[in-house]
Amino acid sequence: MALSLRARHWDYLLRIGQALTAQLDLDTVLQMVLKAAVSLLDGQGGLIALRQPDGRFAIRAVYGLPVRLQDYFSILLSDIPERAGRSDFLIPDLARKLRQVALETALPLRQVVALPMFAGRDLIGVLYVFRVHGGIFTPEERQILATFADQAAIAVHNAQLYHQLATEKRRLDAILQYSADGVMVLDPAQRITVFNRALSEMTRWPVAEALGRHHDEVIQWYQLETEMDLSRAIAGGWPLTTDAGPQAPLYVEGDLRQRDGGRISVGITYAPLLDREGRLVNIIGNVRDISRFREADRLKNTFVSIISHELKTPVTIIRGYAETLSRPEAEWDKETLREGLAVIVEEAEHLNQLIDDLLDASRLQAGALSLQMEEVALDQLAERVVQRFRTQTDKHDIATRFPPDFPTVRGDPRRLEQVLNNLVSNAIKYSPDGGRIRIRGRVRPDEVVVTVTDEGIGIPAPEQSRIFEPFYRVDDPTGRRAEGVGLGLYLAKAIVEAHGGRIWVESEPGKGSAFSFTLPRHQPNER
Ligand code: ADP
Repeated sequence: MALSLRARHWDYLLRIGQALTAQLDLDTVLQMVLKAAVSLLDGQGGLIALRQPDGRFAIRAVYGLPVRLQDYFSILLSDIPERAGRSDFLIPDLARKLRQVALETALPLRQVVALPMFAGRDLIGVLYVFRVHGGIFTPEERQILATFADQAAIAVHNAQLYHQLATEKRRLDAILQYSADGVMVLDPAQRITVFNRALSEMTRWPVAEALGRHHDEVIQWYQLETEMDLSRAIAGGWPLTTDAGPQAPLYVEGDLRQRDGGRISVGITYAPLLDREGRLVNIIGNVRDISRFREADRLKNTFVSIISHELKTPVTIIRGYAETLSRPEAEWDKETLREGLAVIVEEAEHLNQLIDDLLDASRLQAGALSLQMEEVALDQLAERVVQRFRTQTDKHDIATRFPPDFPTVRGDPRRLEQVLNNLVSNAIKYSPDGGRIRIRGRVRPDEVVVTVTDEGIGIPAPEQSRIFEPFYRVDDPTGRRAEGVGLGLYLAKAIVEAHGGRIWVESEPGKGSAFSFTLPRHQPNER
């Protein structure tokens, strides 16, 4: 008996071991362990109770017993000793409790063996085996059963850990995937092993394409604000230093080159993950989109420089003329007086315009641009704008081209005139050598399109989307920068969009530009 028990014991342990390496599903492991124990003890059935997170024990597996009767067995779980060791583990009154269960369930259960399952020093569960016939175990058999229960406990414990780990990993994956910050995880060779959605959006790299690539292939800088980037820091020994202290995370900030060539300002914090021996396991990169901070910074700086330059210039001129003209000792002839006053009026106009634009821009940012809607004949409006500008230039040939029965649209005529004014004055400003300027109207089923074309200096492709940003101006390499503050197109865009339309530019440097905007033929809420 003892020999065959020992032989079977090893046989079961082997099988459980194999099952464990094959799959770590907790329910499967419990069933295997239970089946092996019942068979090992020549039992009729058995159950396994596991300690729950709240400390109580609950039945987690049943074998050889009708599952519907499971609740009757709970009584066997009462009074499981918390602090007993392997040798003195004893559930009080177990035999009496079993008789009660046998009575209530009408099952022929005579004997119960309760084996404690210890993982290390922790009691993680109890394995019960029921026998129909009695019988006494030899000390050697007891020994074998105890080791079996311990091995089974380890198997169950591992399965529990694995389950916990899998849940934890799923939780972590979800946190990573839905984090608003970009997150990437690099292996020690700096290959990307995790790349979340937010980062994919920021960099415009599809997740599947970024995975497996070297960090430097995906994270490329147009411009660095910090001294170091990751590869330079690593070349300098980061994150492993000779003195074994915790290595500080690395912060890198700058303008990232997106996959399609676009640009985004980010700050990346790289944190090393070391194992206990201090070897690098992973680098975790947290990427934050800081474009808005940068933009706010740029706006603030630009605003200050505009105030100091653009507003100061007319004020200086006005003051200079006014002082000169008002000198008590001087006698000015009428002509000089008139010219001086004309300059003052013109500069005051200029100032006024600038202040209006700044006010509009700040209203816009506060979301308080209101429209006075009425029927507007854009063709007539365009003609008025053209006539006014014709008097200001003789280098340019300005005209409108609208089809004869151009429909009216609903809009704010004062604001729409402001849009046309901006586009035409830009067309003049940015074609210093003259040329043709046209305002064309086209009619589509749902909208009208107005296009202002010029034959001026044009706009390089990368700048074309940016010129609609507040205070953005294209650098003129010749230094012949036309006057302006970079608010015109920003305001034009806001006005057009407030009408439910779109605005865009097509342009080729050296050839000219075409600014178009649409306006819906029916206001969306008037259908
Ligand atoms: P501003 O003319 O006051 O600078 P805008 O917002 O009207 O401001 O225009 C922004 C920038 O876009 C200009 O500084 C200029 O670089 C560019 N731009 C606008 N219109 C044209 C045009 N018709 N041709 C070439 N460049 C233009």
